[in-house]
Amino acid sequence: MSNYHHITIPAGDKIHKGSDGTLVTPDVPVICFIEGDGTGPDIWRASRFLFDAAVKHCYGPKRAVAWMEIFAGEKANGIYETYLPDETLDAVREYGIAIKGPLTTPIGGGFRSLNVTLRQQLDLFACVRPVRHFEGVPSPVCEPDAVDMIIFRENTEDVYSGLELESGTPEAARLIDFCAREFGWRIRPDSGIGIKPISETGSKRLVRAALRHAIQHRCSSVTLVHKGNIMKYTEGAFRKWGYELVREEFSDVAVGWDDCGGKPDGKILVKDTIADIFLQQVLTRPREFEVVATMNLNGDYMSDALAAQVGGIGIAPGANINYETGHAIFEATHGTAPKYANLDKVNPSSVVLSGVMMFEYLGWQEVADAIISALTRTFKEKKVTYDFARLMQGATELKCSEFARAVAQNL
Ligand code: NAP
Repeated sequence: MSNYHHITIPAGDKIHKGSDGTLVTPDVPVICFIEGDGTGPDIWRASRFLFDAAVKHCYGPKRAVAWMEIFAGEKANGIYETYLPDETLDAVREYGIAIKGPLTTPIGGGFRSLNVTLRQQLDLFACVRPVRHFEGVPSPVCEPDAVDMIIFRENTEDVYSGLELESGTPEAARLIDFCAREFGWRIRPDSGIGIKPISETGSKRLVRAALRHAIQHRCSSVTLVHKGNIMKYTEGAFRKWGYELVREEFSDVAVGWDDCGGKPDGKILVKDTIADIFLQQVLTRPREFEVVATMNLNGDYMSDALAAQVGGIGIAPGANINYETGHAIFEATHGTAPKYANLDKVNPSSVVLSGVMMFEYLGWQEVADAIISALTRTFKEKKVTYDFARLMQGATELKCSEFARAVAQNL
């Protein structure tokens, strides 16, 4: 008997952790999905069709995903009268894995970002965003194929913690007074205030995840990106803790720049760069970066800027993962694009590629590989959605659902 009020549990089994701590994916895993607001339903319908086709293509009747709808955003509000019901969080805690479309967040007021709340409530501390180019996809740079990196962005701290006080409120005035009294800090009385916590625990677990990825995928470098020259005790500390971790836990396989003079002798080289220089160098020397570890705000800007180099946010995937508990939510990195809602128009590739990350995470590598090669073939055939069609000569413009069908035919 289910404790859920509005969630229907399908026939299938839970993904769980085995005795050695690795994830065990049954043949019919229950996977949660949130279709999302705006263009979310269009994108999700197309993506789910392709996922099911790819699983069937790879495993026939032996395996299938038991999709379980959970609710957030406007659809949740219609059912529960709240945008993020407790049972949505409970379902992800219980079933472990979810995939979602974009959710609306009002700017400068209203409720807090649902995406940020989901990440914080479930302690999904690593936001993982691979950035690579697919042949034929239009790009504003000369050598998009030179971009092949993966960003590990800390997901629970920094100015995203939601520790903010509004200008003119008694709370802001108290904090301004306190800072003046205790630290001699002069802050204008009409200021809004935000707090930027960066902890050793949060920094080290994020850099640990980045290093483990580098080891598993035989990468030659990990770059810590920060503004430690300005924010010495937050971003500067992130850098310091990153290098400390290399010495403490990874000295057999990795070495910090200062500890080897930039000559790693076959080990993974851990280096660091200032965020503003990084944003120049990913344009001028992208081959120098493979795995990147950074904090929340930097990571947000960096991943969208990098996505633009390889085709834009319509194609950029993302995952929010707690590598310690195994919980993960895979998601579109773009927003709800409300002007295109229900037009069956936008590019579903961001959710499709997030699904690829999810199947890799679950160990269904065949499905991930099949989708990637079918997607690659479809782009080469110049069968694309409006966003790419307007930048390509001789393209066939397809609707969102037609694009998914074209990819499925290429499986
Ligand atoms: P947006 O929804 O990402 O849309 C901005 C532009 O990006 C669109 O107008 C469109 O460009 C392009 N775009 C977005 N999705 C696309 C897709 N699937 N295929 C092709 N092009 C796509 O950003 P926004 O308008 O700033 O935000 C709208 C809402 O989404 C806000 O409430 C925001 O808070 C929320 N949001 C949610 C997430 C999330 O859930 N992860 C992330 C970001 C924003 P063109 O106009 O050039 O066609």
